[in-house]
Amino acid sequence: MRNESLHQESVPAALEGFRPTTTPETSPHADGTLVDKYGRHITYLRLSITDRCDFRCFYCMAEDMTFLPRDQVLSLEECLRIVRAFVELGVYKVRITGGEPLVRRDALWLLREIGRLSGVRELVLTTNGSQLEHFAEALQEAGVKRINISLDTLRPERFREITRVGELDKVLRGIDRALAAGLAGLKLNTVMMRGVNDDEFADLVQYAFDKGIDISFIEEMPLGAVDHSRATTFFGSDEALTLLRRRYDLVASGETTGGPARYWRVPGNTRSKVGFISPYTHNFCDSCNRVRVTCKGELFPCLGQNDVLPLMPVLRQHPDDDAPLRQAIVASMGIKPKGHDFNEQMERPKVVRFMSMTGG
Ligand code: SAM
Ligand code: SF4
Repeated sequence: MRNESLHQESVPAALEGFRPTTTPETSPHADGTLVDKYGRHITYLRLSITDRCDFRCFYCMAEDMTFLPRDQVLSLEECLRIVRAFVELGVYKVRITGGEPLVRRDALWLLREIGRLSGVRELVLTTNGSQLEHFAEALQEAGVKRINISLDTLRPERFREITRVGELDKVLRGIDRALAAGLAGLKLNTVMMRGVNDDEFADLVQYAFDKGIDISFIEEMPLGAVDHSRATTFFGSDEALTLLRRRYDLVASGETTGGPARYWRVPGNTRSKVGFISPYTHNFCDSCNRVRVTCKGELFPCLGQNDVLPLMPVLRQHPDDDAPLRQAIVASMGIKPKGHDFNEQMERPKVVRFMSMTGG
């Protein structure tokens, strides 16, 4: 598709009256690419296909969550239309997330269809691992290239406290099943929380090393109002690295997987890397290459801001024409903020939606 056609398309009715919190500007577009007003190329879409989850992690959502009624959630066909439109605009990496993506019925259908799109070079998934033992082989066959599995503890009781309802055993069985299915590129994601799991960082690294998979530690972000003090639980990457170096000889590797993680390795261990995702202590907004779409079809150009562009009305008013959808996506480049300001909101999040809504 040529770029000029984007500018010839009429403004979708759904965008009339749309009031972003930052000023939209015309973005310079190279042919087939999305470029925001700060010159960042957007090549990565994270799509949340459900706000539902079989866990209730206390840092991610409230215990008594109410989930969206079905008619407010994108159909899987609409999800595919959105992915296709992004791919036509130069996006080549797609992460399916949630909520818990594998609790959505027919999630595999969507993954297979996305895996078939010729422009998609990397189809990846984020999951809590609870359903992995049932889906590992099918995910491999669907063309999923890498899977991030959330794992904050290796202790069953603590796992139950963090997730409020989850069973650690199921997740560990899921990881083994994924390894047995030959799924390459497994990575654990661990949210660091002082007084909650900071005594286990080294054990989690050892578990990842034993399995021959990667692990990334994530600084907890102020998304949604939770019932604990994030200022108290916050644990920064530098302190975690110092802590891990008491047990491991970690050397900065300079590798990148196209995301914000910075990686370390133990000399001689070629199978596993240890990463840190540090939105507070090592801000990476300058190199941001992604946008997020929720299961409601809201396009959030930044995880840490409230700027939003609703795609659902565009999709439903133009069921047989993707041109207005592409134009809306292009318009979103004008409202992508420079970055988040998490450091100012440790205790009072300005983003009221939970991570389970925006998609991690
Ligand atoms: N349910 C799936 C899972 O847990 O992997 C996918 C969705 S979950 C929202 C994606 C990731 O976001 C998980 O690794 C989770 O630990 C992380 N996450 C959730 N809330 C967070 C927060 N407030 N700060 C940092 N990471 C968070
Ligand atoms: Fe569910 Fe993932 Fe959020 Fe935990 S982190 S509640 S598993 S969406």
